[in-house]
Amino acid sequence: MRYQKLKGMVDILPGESEHWQYLEAIAQQVFSNYQYHEIRTPILEQYDVFARSSGDSSDIVSKEMYDFEDKGHRHVALRPEGTAGVVRAFVENKLFGPDQTHPYKVWYKGPMFRYERPQSGRQRQFHQIGVEALGSDRPELDVETIVMACDFLKKLGLVDYKIVINTLGDQPTRKAYHEALISYLTPLKAELSADSQERLEKNPLRILDSKDEHDQELVANAPSILDYLTSAAQDHFQQVQQLLKALDIDYQIDSNMVRGLDYYNHTIFEIMLTSPAFGNKEMTLIAGGRYNGLVEELGGPQVAGVGFGMGVERLLLVLEQQQNSLPTLSRPDIYLVAVDEQTSLAVSKLLAQLRWQGISAERDYLGKKVKAQFKQADRLQARFTLTIGEQELEQQQAQLKRMQDGQQTTVDLSNLADLIAKIKKG
Ligand code: ATP
Ligand code: MG
Repeated sequence: MRYQKLKGMVDILPGESEHWQYLEAIAQQVFSNYQYHEIRTPILEQYDVFARSSGDSSDIVSKEMYDFEDKGHRHVALRPEGTAGVVRAFVENKLFGPDQTHPYKVWYKGPMFRYERPQSGRQRQFHQIGVEALGSDRPELDVETIVMACDFLKKLGLVDYKIVINTLGDQPTRKAYHEALISYLTPLKAELSADSQERLEKNPLRILDSKDEHDQELVANAPSILDYLTSAAQDHFQQVQQLLKALDIDYQIDSNMVRGLDYYNHTIFEIMLTSPAFGNKEMTLIAGGRYNGLVEELGGPQVAGVGFGMGVERLLLVLEQQQNSLPTLSRPDIYLVAVDEQTSLAVSKLLAQLRWQGISAERDYLGKKVKAQFKQADRLQARFTLTIGEQELEQQQAQLKRMQDGQQTTVDLSNLADLIAKIKKG
């Protein structure tokens, strides 16, 4: 039996994981500046948290979910996205209550699961970092999330992105637009892809999101939702734009943009980037929007929400392609070389003492000869080596070698503080 990871799943190995830590640390810093705090919710949830009674008609929920019955015959699912779980936690923990600060602002990171066809930038287990702000329907909050997303990208050194926004309006907007879409698409039904023919019955808005090229040609001339906005929806969208302009944030409007999940309304946005990492095609890195009905759908009070999610793998593909100075494996400050078995014990002791003092230190564990130990120190890019032989032990003195230029200094082995000071000086 040859064991393999499942299709669409990826191991993140040392060397690569440093890039993840770097990206996550920047996310944490930036989000913290905007007063978003980390939330950790379970990866496994009740199936209904994602499907809900309304029956989300998106591909993500209806086709791509990893759902199954657990041993207690509960219908459960690996989360395909972060928002529904956060909102479930918000309702269950009564975070809408008076003892909390509102809007309640959180961010999360972690794996998501979608049964999709794996390809570059598309996996079955992938990772998102996302934010949610619950408890205000003001356009300032929509814009805050967009600004924060841009700030994050800038801190990563990504600046040539494109922001695309749209509005899905409110309930009456959606109802009027739904009818207009049906009138436009019904005569074209035979020409639509099989998937979209089905969508015409369930949720015609989804057809705008079709990946089928002919569908895309057909919807290019579809009525625009912007012509069906109620005055309240119009107003909200105008204010969002006004704020973006005031902050000098360039954006485009794509009235055919919908999002991959049904719960969105009002402002939606995507931040896209063209990169050689995607064969110079445009890819969405960050996507989000408002979801004012979701808290109620999950059994909570009428509380508005807005947020976004981003694909970590896709971001890293771009960063790695740009070869921005991404961190690599951490190097040891010092490598202790034991000349023979007799000094091995002393080396272990010194190693432990150095580590206890916060020095990153390493030694040989394979019984290698001195020359091979030096080779290993080079491989690890140790900043210093310290060679300890019997004579050195007797005299309590050893040679500290700075690897970068070969400079050697004699150190007193009984004076740990001095050795540490020398290592720290570099
Ligand atoms: P797409 O249209 O590319 O399928 P989506 O609408 O399904 O995207 P969202 O649900 O909005 O994507 O997820 C937000 C981000 O998560 C995406 O912009 C993308 O960067 C990332 N993402 C989504 N699905 C995958 C996947 N299968 N593998 C890797 N990253 C993904
Ligand atoms: Mg998708």
